[in-house]
Amino acid sequence: MSIVKVIVCGSCGKMGREAIKTVSKEENLELVGAVDLDNTGKDIGLITQNQALEIYISNDLEFIISNTAPQVMIDFTAPAVVKEHIYTALQNNVVPVVGTTGLTNEDIEEINTWVHRYETGAIIAPNFALGAILMMKFSSIAARFLPQVEIIELHHDQKIDAPSGTALKTAQMIKAEQVKYGIGDASDNKPEEIEKLNGARGGKIEDIHIHSIRLQGKVAHQEVIFGGKGQTLSIRHDSLDRSSFMPGLVMAIKEAVGLKKLIYGLENLIEF
Ligand code: NAP
Repeated sequence: MSIVKVIVCGSCGKMGREAIKTVSKEENLELVGAVDLDNTGKDIGLITQNQALEIYISNDLEFIISNTAPQVMIDFTAPAVVKEHIYTALQNNVVPVVGTTGLTNEDIEEINTWVHRYETGAIIAPNFALGAILMMKFSSIAARFLPQVEIIELHHDQKIDAPSGTALKTAQMIKAEQVKYGIGDASDNKPEEIEKLNGARGGKIEDIHIHSIRLQGKVAHQEVIFGGKGQTLSIRHDSLDRSSFMPGLVMAIKEAVGLKKLIYGLENLIEF
């Protein structure tokens, strides 16, 4: 495999730092640029791993792309800027590999039109942890057999968007399976609920309740609880530190080279 040139947007953030460390050490990947609003002009290696990499942080994505000619742009920034970054990458025939969450279904559809317009692929993965991908896949299988389901997701207290991208994707995967197999959520026998405290039952998407917890000490966790007659099934995944996301990220970067379509969800890169 030839060397893949990679830039990282959000390189000084929690995920971006982990990505810089991984890309700079990984065989067949070459870190060529670092973009962030913080620490501009500083060597990213001194910030992430106490070792100069001679790659200097810039806040100008266009400039970094035209000066380093990357094949892949990793993005771990924020919901407010990620779409603009994706557009800039696609316009310049750079494949975005996006971990930033908070994109809506409409955003994904719009990004898909850009992918076709610029004939450049994109990978958007709400969760790069392979264990989380299995948790989502197992949940979609369980949905065929147990009619009721609710999702509890737990993250650190600095997370901006709620619910998490993983919870939204899980709900979509479960719903798709329920529709495919003609399964309802068995809500026919439920009484009409009175929510005495607004939000007590969480948010609802695809008819599935999602509960978001934000606490210091947490990283990224999710439990999907299914209910059936006389039984429950809990499927849980815990990311205990941010290294859990790196093998999936590396896999996505390698798949991104030469990609010409949009992949939404890492499960679409895995043969089950
Ligand atoms: P974070 O620590 O806040 O890092 C975000 C970084 O992006 C910050 O350094 C921020 O700079 C920078 N940034 C903001 N706007 C920018 C812009 N316009 N250009 C360049 N850099 C910009 O957040 P995090 O915990 O790393 O998470 C980042 C994203 O990844 C979130 O959406 C999170 O949900 C997601 N995430 C995804 C996965 C996955 O597996 N897909 C896993 C964990 C997290 P400032 O501090 O100056 O704003």
